[in-house]
Amino acid sequence: MRQENKMLLDLHTHSTASDGTYSPEKLVLEAAKKQLKYLSLTDHDTIDGLSQITSVPDELIFINGVEISAEFPKTLHILGYGFDPNQAELNSTLKELQDFRLNRNKKMIGNMKTFGFDITLEELEKEAGGELIGRPHFAHLFARKGYVSCYQEAFDKYLDKGKPLYLNKKRLPPQKAIELLRNAGGIPVIAHPYQTRLVNDELEELIVELTDFGLMGIEVFYSQHTPEQIRFYKYLADKYGLLITAGSDFHGSTKPDIELGMNVEDELLQPFLQKAIK
Ligand code: AMP
Ligand code: ZN
Ligand code: FE
Ligand code: FE
Repeated sequence: MRQENKMLLDLHTHSTASDGTYSPEKLVLEAAKKQLKYLSLTDHDTIDGLSQITSVPDELIFINGVEISAEFPKTLHILGYGFDPNQAELNSTLKELQDFRLNRNKKMIGNMKTFGFDITLEELEKEAGGELIGRPHFAHLFARKGYVSCYQEAFDKYLDKGKPLYLNKKRLPPQKAIELLRNAGGIPVIAHPYQTRLVNDELEELIVELTDFGLMGIEVFYSQHTPEQIRFYKYLADKYGLLITAGSDFHGSTKPDIELGMNVEDELLQPFLQKAIK
């Protein structure tokens, strides 16, 4: 439902190019159908989905995006917007992260044998639709093959950080992720800040440090943020002159409880939109 002074948009979504279940083209059509005004595709560590979008309806404005996993004790994801998708360093660095991921997947497949799980790389590639393979694809296969009773059990027992089949993926240091995006003409934004699991004072320190590195925005509005979190993140954005963004983290049926689209005060998003749209 739209209200005056609010608008529908989504600046944080995933497609089949990473671990979402909608193709980039289907995502664009769905966004137009839902009457979103702005959409960004922010796949994990890849921009391959962007080139799969060949046409965007006139009513929708599409913004290039990516979500980079950074090195951090818990979770630190840096969203990037409006970069040049052909910039060499951005492409070569993302390619390195993807190559590392392929090796990780092969190792995970080997480790699974000790649990009696018989999974091949070909099956995983099929599950992922030929795109970047992630733990959700393993989890779906585990469930389908009856090794676990459901998708979530696969994470709870085997795939979550600290569980027996988890292997770390290569991550960029936060400063490197931010500089990479800035060098490609992009806008780096800290995603879902609560996932850092920092208390407010610590989060503020982190924001100050990342801003020194070139961070330009905070994902204040996120499908899982509480009103208190939104208030604090907005306070931080105002205090440090950072842009405000809004995203759902839509993944299709990988995260079935998250719907596409966020309904947010128009004027809060304008500074970001004006910078991101060239
Ligand atoms: P990967 O990039 O292979 O490390 O997989 C990361 C993805 O796995 C995330 O984007 C989530 O979709 C999913 N994921 C990670 N941890 C969990 C969890 N505890 N329960 C369910 N899904 C998870
Ligand atoms: Zn994901
Ligand atoms: Fe994320
Ligand atoms: Fe995400």
